[in-house]
Amino acid sequence: GRTVCECYGCYGGADCSELSSECVADADSGDPVYLEPFWMQHAADTAVVISGWHRMSYNYADDTMMSIELENCIRKLHSIVGNAITEGRYMVFGVGSSQLLSAAVYALSSEISSSPSKVFASKPFYPIYKDQTVFFNSNNFQFKGDTNSWQLNNSTNSTDVIEFVTSPNNPDGELKKPVLRGKTIYDHAYFWPEFTPIPGPSDHDLMIFTLSKLTGHAGTRFGWAIIKNKDVYEKVLKYIYLADMGISKDTQLRVLKLLKVAIEEDGKPFFEFAYNQMRERWERLTFVFSMSKRFSIQKRHPLHCNFFHETRLPSPAYAWVKCEREEDDDCKAVLEAAKIRSSSGSTFGAEDRYTRLSLIKSQDDFELLLQRLTQLVFLENTSI
Ligand code: PMP
Repeated sequence: GRTVCECYGCYGGADCSELSSECVADADSGDPVYLEPFWMQHAADTAVVISGWHRMSYNYADDTMMSIELENCIRKLHSIVGNAITEGRYMVFGVGSSQLLSAAVYALSSEISSSPSKVFASKPFYPIYKDQTVFFNSNNFQFKGDTNSWQLNNSTNSTDVIEFVTSPNNPDGELKKPVLRGKTIYDHAYFWPEFTPIPGPSDHDLMIFTLSKLTGHAGTRFGWAIIKNKDVYEKVLKYIYLADMGISKDTQLRVLKLLKVAIEEDGKPFFEFAYNQMRERWERLTFVFSMSKRFSIQKRHPLHCNFFHETRLPSPAYAWVKCEREEDDDCKAVLEAAKIRSSSGSTFGAEDRYTRLSLIKSQDDFELLLQRLTQLVFLENTSI
């Protein structure tokens, strides 16, 4: 008889080429694996080897809390991309940008416990802002929710207000602007040319970036803050020092290796590869949704990109899907029934009529997602 091979993952059939009808397309998490093929092409020049005896000391012992070489490399990256002003600004590294978000709330918050700072974000927003602010419970700050539901009355001093401005936004990709007049934390996790045209350099008091969405190395846990004010800088640095005694040297070395390759030829090969991946995914996704009346996705508006020197459409990391039918008020459940896993609108403080699809996972994940969506839209157009 014929030997039956076990097929990998979702595939079955004699030669493992048939997609199992049971298989669920997982577009839930924002794990940015889509750049793996780029790094496979650079396997040798991005490899890091560290001997057992090497780099053993605490970071403070040899003054490497932050590697100067890495800091300079990041400044160069920003000047090549044109997405942030770094001249005359301070920089602090963090364990992912997640840690810097909470360090920033600490640094900007009121030290008078009788009037804790009020922390806001605009719906729909990345849930960590709320979760961290609540979890790291303090007398100095309180999460107050959506900016729009908050009317700044006369008794609220603007120095007591901290607003997260996520630009581009997770989940909907919008280039957000502040709504309140207070202190701002600009979360620029997705402010890179693969996701959005870069209209000009960001020049805000406190800007946070992450390696996770730039190169896809989310597991390396590395982010950085760019800070104008010296007092704020010192507080963010104090937070990182007390929490971690600085960022792992092994991590810093790996980041340097990766960024050196990312900025080769002024970033052209890297960002073109990344952008082309995202653009192609958006073109295919837009085509499927254009045939649907039941589902819609966010509108994209062209902008001039100073990095690519042309006007382009954004290609956000996530599709923000709306279920248009009255009865489909749980959009995540509607997609789940069609074997598509997504993140519900209420996760982001929005209505469950919305749900988020991640577009930055592996090519296999994306292909499966597209197949499932195509089937769903096909059904809509054939049923009476
Ligand atoms: N900010 C935003 C808007 C994000 O979407 C994410 C990751 N999903 C982060 C920050 C945190 O990323 P990391 O801690 O990996 O840098």
